[in-house]
Amino acid sequence: MEPDGGKEPDSVSAVIPGWFSEISSMWPGEAHSLKIEKILFQGKSDYQNVMVFQSATYGKVLVLDGVIQLTERDECAYQEMITHLPLCSIPNPKKVLVIGGGDGGVLREVARYSSVEKIDICEIDKMVIDVSKQFFPEVAIGYEDPRVTLHVGDGVAFLKAVPAGTYDAVIVDSSDPIGPAKELFEKPFFQTVANALRPGGVVCTQAESIWLHMHIIEDIVANCREIFKGSVNYAWTTVPTYPSGVIGFMLCSTEGTAVDFKHPVNSIDESKRPLRFYNSEIHTAAFCLPSFAKKVIDAK
Ligand code: SAM
Repeated sequence: MEPDGGKEPDSVSAVIPGWFSEISSMWPGEAHSLKIEKILFQGKSDYQNVMVFQSATYGKVLVLDGVIQLTERDECAYQEMITHLPLCSIPNPKKVLVIGGGDGGVLREVARYSSVEKIDICEIDKMVIDVSKQFFPEVAIGYEDPRVTLHVGDGVAFLKAVPAGTYDAVIVDSSDPIGPAKELFEKPFFQTVANALRPGGVVCTQAESIWLHMHIIEDIVANCREIFKGSVNYAWTTVPTYPSGVIGFMLCSTEGTAVDFKHPVNSIDESKRPLRFYNSEIHTAAFCLPSFAKKVIDAK
């Protein structure tokens, strides 16, 4: 219940005039704020409110239903880690599926691998794709790769229709488990992901913050342990404009060739675009967890 019993303040109306405050029931009692230079786009799709604004210190910012999805300044941390943690862990990935990721940033990172022959992406909201191409060309550049096939639709339905063993890797780059992404955090969805992966295939999902969402993470880990019989791991990284300044990832593999997620086996092509965040040391370090998180995650 909000303090005054009323509806939550609208973050765009700015609790602080001229600032965007990320107020959400997903992180009660706290809100990260960014100074707004100019609002560049506001729209409502069939799925969510979409907004883009020019911030004073993080470049342009994409917001969905009042939640920051990416900023020009720190998107590299998230896009590079959610992509290279799984793809650097298996030799010669060939077929990759991205669920969500409508901004195109994960596509941009997957396209670095010359071994990759096919990149499918299933994004539910065409408005996100169009807005990203218009305002974030350096992120949406991922759509320009000829190996990319775009499917506009619900990732839950898409995965149900994928033949068993199709992909080497699935990357679930979703928004939070409220709104259209809710089912992407549930057991039936993970089951369809496992089915879509080849033996020894890998999945990496956006897995919230250990500071804010241990209860959600605990459930996800328990579900993954039941479904993914290769290995189940949690990694994390810093993204300053995400709530609590960190975001985590579930990294799982199906039964088959063992996957050692903690020691990357692939190098990454930086000839067209240097990496801004990921490197092999930070890859290994990402799996080192603070004790309060380790106790919960390792116990499951
Ligand atoms: N890649 C961004 C970043 O750098 O932080 C964050 C996430 S991305 C914007 C999340 C995407 O998931 C959104 O475009 C949203 O429309 C999409 N999405 C949410 N639920 C979905 C579903 N059920 N199926 C497919 N896409 C979904």
